[in-house]
Amino acid sequence: MAKEVLYSSTRGALGQIKASEAILRGLAPDGGLYVPDHIPHLEKTLREIAQLDYRETAYEVMKLLLTDYTEEELKYCISHAYDSKFDTDEIAPISEAGGAYYLELYHGATIAFKDMALSILPYLMTTAAKKNNVKNEIVILTATSGDTGKAALAGFADVPGTRIIVFYPKHGVSPIQEQQMVTQKGDNTCVIGIEGNFDDAQTGVKKIFTDKELAKELDAKGFQFSSANSINIGRLVPQIVYYVYSYAKLLKEGRIADGDSINVVVPTGNFGNILAAYYAKNMGVPIAKLICASNSNKVLFDFFQTGEYDRNRDFVLTSSPSMDILISSNLERLIYHIAGDDAQKNANLMALLSQDGKYEITDNMREQLADFYGGFATEDETAATIRKVFESNGYLMDTHTAVASSVYSKYVQETGDKTVTVIASTASPFKFTRSVMNALGKGDESKDDFALADELSEVSGVAIPEAVSSIRTAEIRHKTVVDKADMLKAVCDFLNA
Ligand SMILES: *Cc1c(COP(=O)(O)O)cnc(C)c1O
Repeated sequence: MAKEVLYSSTRGALGQIKASEAILRGLAPDGGLYVPDHIPHLEKTLREIAQLDYRETAYEVMKLLLTDYTEEELKYCISHAYDSKFDTDEIAPISEAGGAYYLELYHGATIAFKDMALSILPYLMTTAAKKNNVKNEIVILTATSGDTGKAALAGFADVPGTRIIVFYPKHGVSPIQEQQMVTQKGDNTCVIGIEGNFDDAQTGVKKIFTDKELAKELDAKGFQFSSANSINIGRLVPQIVYYVYSYAKLLKEGRIADGDSINVVVPTGNFGNILAAYYAKNMGVPIAKLICASNSNKVLFDFFQTGEYDRNRDFVLTSSPSMDILISSNLERLIYHIAGDDAQKNANLMALLSQDGKYEITDNMREQLADFYGGFATEDETAATIRKVFESNGYLMDTHTAVASSVYSKYVQETGDKTVTVIASTASPFKFTRSVMNALGKGDESKDDFALADELSEVSGVAIPEAVSSIRTAEIRHKTVVDKADMLKAVCDFLNA
């Protein structure tokens, strides 16, 4: 039997809890994020894992970190999550184009990589509620930069014992992202636009979470909050799976030899996806470089350059809105680890971030970031990458993936590093149709995003995904827009509390 993995807050000494409890709580009461007390090593060799399908790989990885779930419970969650909701049995297929491997994480119900974790989180959450004798209704409170919201809504809609409230920046998501959310069915769902940006939404949600008085009042009324954001460890753990899977797949197909290192490039916003790659590396996947790709909101690029994290800058709306973030929540988990799993040190830095909007790490901590490489792509570079890869390789990618692809090209130019590379491909191009059509030189201001999707389909020969065609004429069910200061009131209104 492997050693049990326990979870504690990145900010304090509140003691250790089991995985299922950490998933139920989402965020720690002191505002910190739950982190594992150790990162277990894979039990099977990667050569053995290469013989497994996605679901079996998921079990191999998740059983090591979610140690208080039984085999039966985990297999139940996995088999219900990774099923025909995905348009391919491979779940996360790999395509080769222009000398890199694109790990396509967008074949789920809402055509963005958030489905990889959010199709399983509702099962992990309801199983956790049962295991811990929770009688309250669980209220999932979520801030979204566009993709998490829909994926969480799709996962939790009509799940008994849960309700879900999603806040999105009213002017900060793509029209198709917005249409996906505001047409969401399910009596337990609530979608609210806010006058503010994603960081405002995320900060507001964190504030509601850590309001102890409110928690008490709601408990008396039979509710408790949890989170579907990547601050929830139940999001992070399922994301480790596809890094293990992709290495094993490349091995199986003879693209790499056993023991070879690979690099991964991740288009990054909240630092959840790349943190999962870091955990995969620590579990034994031979990953050499973790390449963190940012758009013009390049706070992470600057951080890797200088060791100073500084959010005091203008927030830029880009063509990759799911990465328009200046406070990358999950970076806190990395800071905690490179501080030597020191909650006090981390808490001090996070206090500086909240007071001054910036902090600086020590040289010693910086040395432990040697495997990370930060890069960024401008809007022009992003568009040029979409066009170039499509025209020369026939491979169509979305704007977020293009940020990663562009950063990868610049990295190779700069370093000459020929290591086999996996680029996380995080969304279908049909989710960001207008930007993709503009990049291809086929934009048309007079057409709406759905008409452009028809054209994109013709140009690319790729059928319009069901996730887009099904919302085209769907009824709009959610119309509330509030000021960022009124988020709490909106929550109470929905709960009648
Ligand atoms: C959420 C998202 C990202 C950023 O992922 P993080 O885990 O927040 O770093 C990148 N691309 C797309 C399409 C996304 O939806």
